[in-house]
Amino acid sequence: MIKNYIELAVEDMLDDVFIKYAAKNPGTCTCPRCRLDVMAIALNNLPTRYVVTDEGGIYTKVAMEQVGGRAQVVAAILNGIQIVQKNPRH
Ligand SMILES: [Zn+2]
Repeated sequence: MIKNYIELAVEDMLDDVFIKYAAKNPGTCTCPRCRLDVMAIALNNLPTRYVVTDEGGIYTKVAMEQVGGRAQVVAAILNGIQIVQKNPRH
């Protein structure tokens, strides 16, 4: 099975980044549509890195450094949140 490692990383970090952003910015919408829009924007701004899964657990096996580190993923999510909050589609 082939998975986009970046997508797994964004999925994994999205809630954490979203919750922290919403705590600092009251009124931030975290509805399912906004979350998906943020994820799509973040993924479009990040590289794609396909990895072959073996017994699961590929997420921890692949070094985050390969994608520019956690900071790059967090920045892409934050950028997506700001775009979606300015122009929500829900
Ligand atoms: Zn919303």
